[in-house]
Amino acid sequence: MLRTARKRARTSTTTETSVLAKSARRCVLCFLMSGDLAEKIGQIAHLDEDRSNSTETNLAWMCLPHHSLYDSKTSQHKNYTIQEVKAGRTKLYRAITAGRHHPRATVAGAGLERLKPRLHTVFNPQQCTWGISGIYQVNGTVKKTMSAHFSATFTNDDDNEPLVILEAYPEGTRQQFGTFRFTVPPQGCPIDAMVHATVLPVLGSPEQPLEMRFVLKDQFGRTYKTSKATFRWVSAGVENLSG
Ligand SMILES: [Zn+2]
Repeated sequence: MLRTARKRARTSTTTETSVLAKSARRCVLCFLMSGDLAEKIGQIAHLDEDRSNSTETNLAWMCLPHHSLYDSKTSQHKNYTIQEVKAGRTKLYRAITAGRHHPRATVAGAGLERLKPRLHTVFNPQQCTWGISGIYQVNGTVKKTMSAHFSATFTNDDDNEPLVILEAYPEGTRQQFGTFRFTVPPQGCPIDAMVHATVLPVLGSPEQPLEMRFVLKDQFGRTYKTSKATFRWVSAGVENLSG
């Protein structure tokens, strides 16, 4: 037989590493047949069944049942063609590059939906304040911005994933500084955090309380809205300066 007569060439480590990295050990046939992106115990299969042909284009990761089915000559009628496996491999590598095998990191629209965890915010009403702050400009004038502060207890109902909050701003505004972050641990562990935001435009009138909700943005770009809270006016003495 041709297959046993040929000397088996060892796949180079570089090629092997490349196949393992591109497939992330996801079986090309599991993916092709049922969209299964779970990691599988498997082997690198030679698609043309010539074990001396170890160029990368001839290789694909397969789970053990699919590898033996692919190689078997007895079930020829339901076997997979090399063209269909190669087409499936192209799609699989694209899916891995897009991070679809990590559904938790997948944002809506990338193909796989995930349940967004619930970020629950309980305000400390004593510590919801807003005011007008100023940024001194080089020409001596003051650029007025809105500042808002609150403290709250946060919980995240996700079983595994912490939520890293990277942005926080009152709804309808834009954050002016991007240095803000805090982490809400998974499994409903509550944390207390102080949130400070310097934003534009200024939404309220000086001296008046302001009712608003906050938008919080996590490490995956998902946004969460808090319930409304009343923010007490606190003067920093900047509101009367000429801008
Ligand atoms: Zn498989």
